[in-house]
Amino acid sequence: MDKIIRCITSDGAIMAAAIDASDIVFTAKKLHRLSRSATAALGRLLCATSIMGSMLKQKDATINLRIMGDGELGPVITVGDSSGNVRGYVGNSDCPTEYYPNGKINVAKAVGKNGVLNVMRDYGTGEPYIGQIELVSGEIAEDITSYYATSEQIPTVCALGVLIDKEDGEVLLAGGLLIQLLPGAFDDTIEKLEKNIEKLEPVTTMLAKGMSILDICKTALDGFEVEVLDETPVNYVCNCSRGKLERFFFTMSDDDIRSMADEKGVAIANCHFCNKKYIFTKADLEKIIQEKNSVN
Ligand SMILES: [Zn+2]
Repeated sequence: MDKIIRCITSDGAIMAAAIDASDIVFTAKKLHRLSRSATAALGRLLCATSIMGSMLKQKDATINLRIMGDGELGPVITVGDSSGNVRGYVGNSDCPTEYYPNGKINVAKAVGKNGVLNVMRDYGTGEPYIGQIELVSGEIAEDITSYYATSEQIPTVCALGVLIDKEDGEVLLAGGLLIQLLPGAFDDTIEKLEKNIEKLEPVTTMLAKGMSILDICKTALDGFEVEVLDETPVNYVCNCSRGKLERFFFTMSDDDIRSMADEKGVAIANCHFCNKKYIFTKADLEKIIQEKNSVN
């Protein structure tokens, strides 16, 4: 069962959140039949999105992250809610996988180094908050760090990892860590934290050792008194439904809706996030057109 934990140092200077998202990334890989590089890239962004979602204070708020680089992977798109539940997809699930000399998957090669990261927070009321940065590395964790530094002026450390079985390509472990300095942190706090970060092992290495997400936060915040804010289960959740798709049809013209039916008289709508197929017969489409025109 995947979980996310949020901690704060008792002096209120540092916030740390860690996630074990092994099941979420396993699910994403299975749903979308992702190649290894696509699994690593989407998995990392799902970890970050879940943490960032769990930091939203409003109950119905959502967060959308979109990375668009010039690599073969195409867009990487994720959505999270304020409970930390997430979903996502990539443009090219079959993206080829290249490796660094040390055997790690070259995620930057798949994503591309040139491009942008967009972050949109929708609080459900009024205008959404939108931020955008240029990618700094395409390795995702560094891009998230840069996003917080440039777009929100919050000093942040972000580590994300997906461990994939070398033999069969299955997801073994996935996790992430996000540490933020809160306003008013003193220099000696920053120094102490930096020393901890230097010593920190990759998140999946710590998970593989059997460390809990609380252990990971405590290791990152070694020497500080740590208080747990909350620890909650998180899942891969898609909230698509036939009704939501029907409402999407409402934005189309009558002719466009009719033209969606194939020669067999059937339209198939596929949810990008969970690959669920919704089938609409010609009669269904006519009914939708009728409803649409009675609303307008
Ligand atoms: Zn869906």
